[in-house]
Amino acid sequence: MSKAILVVGGGFAGITSAIEAAELGHEVYLVEKLPWLGGRVAQLNKYFPKLCPPSCGLEIQFQRIRKNPAIKCLTMAELVGFSGVAGNYTATIRLNPRHTAPHNVDFSLLASTLEGLAPSEFELGLTTRKALYKAMPFAWPARWVLDPETLTPADAARVGANKFLNLQEQPSEIELNVASVIVATGWRPYAMSNLVNLGAGQIRNCISNMQMERLASAFGPTGGQIRRPSDGRVPMSVAFAQCAGSRDQNHLNYCSYICCMATFKQCLYLAEQSPETRITVYYIDLRAPGRYVNVLEKVQALPNVRFIKGKVAQALQTDGDRVVFVAEDETSGRKEAREYDLGVLATGMQPSLACGNLPLPMPLDEDGFVAGGRKAGIYAAGCAVMPLDVSRSAQSGTAAALKAAQTANGR
Ligand code: SF4
Repeated sequence: MSKAILVVGGGFAGITSAIEAAELGHEVYLVEKLPWLGGRVAQLNKYFPKLCPPSCGLEIQFQRIRKNPAIKCLTMAELVGFSGVAGNYTATIRLNPRHTAPHNVDFSLLASTLEGLAPSEFELGLTTRKALYKAMPFAWPARWVLDPETLTPADAARVGANKFLNLQEQPSEIELNVASVIVATGWRPYAMSNLVNLGAGQIRNCISNMQMERLASAFGPTGGQIRRPSDGRVPMSVAFAQCAGSRDQNHLNYCSYICCMATFKQCLYLAEQSPETRITVYYIDLRAPGRYVNVLEKVQALPNVRFIKGKVAQALQTDGDRVVFVAEDETSGRKEAREYDLGVLATGMQPSLACGNLPLPMPLDEDGFVAGGRKAGIYAAGCAVMPLDVSRSAQSGTAAALKAAQTANGR
């Protein structure tokens, strides 16, 4: 029998679960399939409720993990097998190769000499990365990762000569004996390629709300300046299309909860950086839960922001590189097409499990969220359960840790 707890997913909810469970005295295995912890929060420019940058909240959590030897952090790792009963589960974890030495070596000089490039996953395709890379300056673990697929033959020769890099490293598997499991696999932005009527991600200056976060981030591809992808120009007119894919039976048949607030936040970014930029928000409903209504009121009071009640039915590219949004204005009853320098699709939240199941006895609902009817000792947290903002994700991570600890203590 074990008292250890397995946490699957190293985003904000998973990190919170891991810390809380460890601080209750349990050994914790935190398994994350990416090379770093932080999940979607790490990609944001600022997050609610205080609109602070992700580095502030995450660095505190990373420090708590660093200082707690009870937490074993396994990155580039996946749960691939699972058996047993509550209090005595066996989890098989695949460790994918990082190809870099297991200590903190700075490869920035070598990386700068490499030629191969791949679209940056962290920057959501807005820029490229080298084969040897770190996602962001505050990435934790602060270790580089080598992607052999991106190496050119010349790069491979340079990399092969470095004693701290190992191109031959292979995946391996370990087995863990754990009492309970927390599933905190998070979410992914709904793919723009699915939104055919809104350009399917092919309109040059029509980006997603998560891409907007990267443009606004000081660590992002434009150093925090919101500029058009096509020409680097400051957009003088920007339009947001709310519910892009959400509340739509052909896509996500639910409200994604966070994308109204994300748009209000992004209106504030724009107003701060470029007060002359005219902003239009197309919406069905404006959702600002609880005290966040203050943020909505602040945005509504901005002189250059207008709200049009109507869902964008179509997005097009002009002969140049402007974006056309076609929508029926529900107030006037007129269908109108208007041009903008930059379009932003407020894409919704899709549970990561909708795109890949875990080997756990854990039913999902028709949207891919974790449903009831799980086996004892298996709990879920954060956006694996429902769309949540960061603070509610953290609360649900704490709740899951308490339940997992009860199972581990035989209660
Ligand atoms: Fe639509 Fe707002 Fe709900 Fe997002 S939060 S799905 S934009 S109503």
